[in-house]
Amino acid sequence: MKLLLWAAIVLAVIWILRSKKSSPKVDSAMPPHSTEDAAEVMLRCAHCKTYFPASEAVFDSSHTVFCSVEHRRQHAAS
Ligand SMILES: [Zn+2]
Repeated sequence: MKLLLWAAIVLAVIWILRSKKSSPKVDSAMPPHSTEDAAEVMLRCAHCKTYFPASEAVFDSSHTVFCSVEHRRQHAAS
């Protein structure tokens, strides 16, 4: 009976150590994601004046920023 108890304790310790090892991996995997989101530069459309992610930006020949091709076209027409 004592042997079984020790086996259970050893298994519990191994299980705790494994879960502790795996949790920092999850934590370290999270920050790059959140910093990527935070590092996303927001630009303002010259036409509708709304802010949008720089990755979606559309530029005209004079490097004016627009949120869409449609707004670039409308701005050029006005
Ligand atoms: Zn716009």
